Amino acid sequence: MSESILDIPTGGSAEEEPPSQAIRDAAGILLQEVFGYESFRGPQEKVIERVVSGGDALVLMPTGGGKSICYQIPGLIRQGLTVVVTPTISLMQDQVAALVQAGVSAAALNSSMEADDRRRVWAKLHDGEIKILYLAPERLLLEGFLDQLGDFNPGLFAIDEAHCISQWGHDFRAEYQQLGSLRQRYPQVPVIGLTATADPQTLKDVLGVLQMSKEDVFSTSMNRPNLRYLVEPKDQPRRQLLRFIKDRHAGEAGIIYCGSRKKVEDTAEWLRKEGIRAVPYHAGMENQQRSLNQQLFQREEGIVVVATVAFGMGIDKPNVRFVAHLDMPESPQHYSQESGRAGRDGLPAECWLCYGWQDVMMAQRRLAEAELDQSQKQIRRHQIDAILAYCETAECRRANMLRFFGEEADSCTTDDQGCDNCLSTVEVSDGTVLAQKLLSAISRTGQVFGKAHVIDVLTGNATEKVAKFGHDRLSVYGIGTELDEAGWHSVFRQLASMGLVRIDLEGHNGISLDPSCRKILRGEEKFSFRKDRLPKKAKRKRKKKKELGLDAMQASLFERLRQHRLELSRELEVPPYTIFHDSTLVEMSQLKPQTLSQMSMISGVGQKKLEKWGQGFLEIITA
Ligand code: ADP
Ligand code: ZN
Repeated sequence: MSESILDIPTGGSAEEEPPSQAIRDAAGILLQEVFGYESFRGPQEKVIERVVSGGDALVLMPTGGGKSICYQIPGLIRQGLTVVVTPTISLMQDQVAALVQAGVSAAALNSSMEADDRRRVWAKLHDGEIKILYLAPERLLLEGFLDQLGDFNPGLFAIDEAHCISQWGHDFRAEYQQLGSLRQRYPQVPVIGLTATADPQTLKDVLGVLQMSKEDVFSTSMNRPNLRYLVEPKDQPRRQLLRFIKDRHAGEAGIIYCGSRKKVEDTAEWLRKEGIRAVPYHAGMENQQRSLNQQLFQREEGIVVVATVAFGMGIDKPNVRFVAHLDMPESPQHYSQESGRAGRDGLPAECWLCYGWQDVMMAQRRLAEAELDQSQKQIRRHQIDAILAYCETAECRRANMLRFFGEEADSCTTDDQGCDNCLSTVEVSDGTVLAQKLLSAISRTGQVFGKAHVIDVLTGNATEKVAKFGHDRLSVYGIGTELDEAGWHSVFRQLASMGLVRIDLEGHNGISLDPSCRKILRGEEKFSFRKDRLPKKAKRKRKKKKELGLDAMQASLFERLRQHRLELSRELEVPPYTIFHDSTLVEMSQLKPQTLSQMSMISGVGQKKLEKWGQGFLEIITA
């Protein structure tokens, strides 16, 4: 039977429960010695205390918030085996590797393992040598497996990505809905659920299946202070993307999301020609090539993955420095999840989104064609409006997004990596007259023409089409010379994002007026026009390493440490971050420890890691 590594009686009846102080002490020691961290973050300590003393918890923290420690430390303190249910097989191995590097006896059991490896894990389980076991939900529900678990004295069940329980969540997994059976079979074993997706309906479902109550919920703000949010209107999207990468993220790992497989392929190829180490990833690729690309991304430094949204669940690479979207995400939920894959290590990272009229049309079209009932369509429409509003807002992007998830929020603070709107003032002016001109032009031309034609009429562009329909004789012809074509595109997008104009998707994308625009036409409501900011090359350039807080000397040391880590990781065949995180290397570069004991004070350097690698890294620092 696997024993607790600390001498605390746990589990069983209430009188056996250890006093809170003893739990907190034990947890603090493990935090420092195993994980190398100084203090707990947010609700970590409270959760650990609750779970160790036999209670349940549902932990809602943003990506990178530090959820894993909430079950790993209790797993080490409680007697018996901790079983972690996690949806992606590809992730298990890396999570286990990270724990093993820290000296924890962890293992995974899944269908993709060689039979020999599986047998070894079983043998170790029987010998009581495993403390933390990772499983996919399928296995847990295999005939007889739950009974078999009894032999290993389960002491804690952890359900990672718990939102997979809910159909409302974006990653619904049928097997997750049956996790309630754990409860029936092992009523006295505490359960901890963890997720970064918190909308109320999902939460309700999760609590229901795991048989928990609101009192079991531990949550923090979903804000990710280390993420910067940037939105650019589409002009030459690939060029804009390339400039973003070259100016701000040269040599760094990132994810680029595209709406289609073809676009993924094309973009990856184009980036490679431009000298970026980019690989494609989408569901239509051959399996072997796809997992190769994923491995490359996970194990090497500075790889850029161009992917459809199929890419992500299997990724917990902590040092993804940017997530870029070349197409508008489906909803704020999707965007927060996809962009949230940046900066799990807490270091500055950027979420960049490029969108244009095409995206607005695509979204409307998908909605029109979706086979959904009326109420579901309503939900979808609301989501599309919300993501459009995010793109067009002149206010803080962070606050806009947080408010969608029901959190009260103001603009970026000094603790946040400011969003583009907070960093430089957005030019907003009274655009009521502009809107009136545009709406009138749509109306006078009969509400059947597309955007380009309406703009031609407004700007007095004498095209054949304009002549053919006699639109040069309309009163609105040529009344819009105060803006250029791009300016009018922007007015169009902003009106569409407010639902004031509609696109006829059945016909030829003709634009019509929504009745709600009448107030603006009559002058009863104002329209504020936000001026598009197209990126200027020189202005955007920024010293990237400075953002990590490193001067030139420190930056070069950081590079050497990173190189050493990469060599080690190739030797050990594990991802680099399971050795040390970037944040740990950054601290080493700044503090330059000269002895092993100084090294041990660096955040992220636990005892085992110090023994194994301290000397090697020390030699590079002192050289
Ligand atoms: P999540 O699962 O919530 O996305 P992780 O558990 O992977 O986040 O933790 C994110 C990062 O924060 C990891 O690098 C982890 O080691 C680190 N971390 C977690 N807790 C602490 C802490 N108390 N102090 C310092 N770093 C921490
Ligand atoms: Zn902001």
